[in-house]
Amino acid sequence: MPDALLTLQALNAHYGDFQALYGVDLRVDPGEVVAVIGANGAGKTTMLRSIAGLLKNAPGAIRWKGQAIGALRADQVAGRGIALVPEGRLLFPSLSVEENLVIGGQLGRKGPWSLQRVYDLFPILKERRHQQSTSLSGGQQQMVAIGRALMANPELVLMDEISLGLAPVIIRQIYEALPGIVGEGLTAVIVEQDIAKALSVSQRVYCLQEGRVSLEGQSQTVPREDITRAYFGV
Ligand code: ATP
Repeated sequence: MPDALLTLQALNAHYGDFQALYGVDLRVDPGEVVAVIGANGAGKTTMLRSIAGLLKNAPGAIRWKGQAIGALRADQVAGRGIALVPEGRLLFPSLSVEENLVIGGQLGRKGPWSLQRVYDLFPILKERRHQQSTSLSGGQQQMVAIGRALMANPELVLMDEISLGLAPVIIRQIYEALPGIVGEGLTAVIVEQDIAKALSVSQRVYCLQEGRVSLEGQSQTVPREDITRAYFGV
């Protein structure tokens, strides 16, 4: 087994008195796509936000290339090479497409991603580069959010429900871009509501149920009944 890129070990997360994650263990190896599925409220977004340094964590609960990063701030996590594509995109509404993309590159990590490469991946963004980001369609805005994360030249990209609210044709377009993103030194963790989609684009899958890992398996071979049980708890 290769050395893990990212490991979660007994990760807990709280919002005030409410505990959202209970002892989550997860492993991500270099170059793979790991899918995280689970019902609404299972803790998927919380897990990604914990990794990204947006929630307080025990230092050793999150390890990046063996180093404890659980107590780092979000900007420090980003500086290590972990980028989040947040649920709801969170673009800068008054800025243009290109300005949003350029902001993603401001951490200045060196790597293969540039404006041109993002435009090659999503040609529509080049056409629309001077438009205000809010004037784009939902799917195009999602492309900006992905492009902005890639501009930071991350080693790991965390994608939170990138297909939410998008038309099937746009979802297909975005997922077709995934092989051009992952590999070549880039690894992905994707949170996805659509289970079939999650399984088809990933090598391994985790299911969360009420803040706990209820299943871990190989995406291509995990029995469908096991997923149903892990997802719904039946
Ligand atoms: P969804 O698929 O609906 O986005 P999720 O699996 O991403 O769900 P989370 O958003 O991580 O789930 O939420 C996990 C639990 O934490 C839920 O019970 C939710 O109500 C709670 N929660 C999330 N954010 C907060 C917050 N800011 N304050 C208090 N509770 C929160």
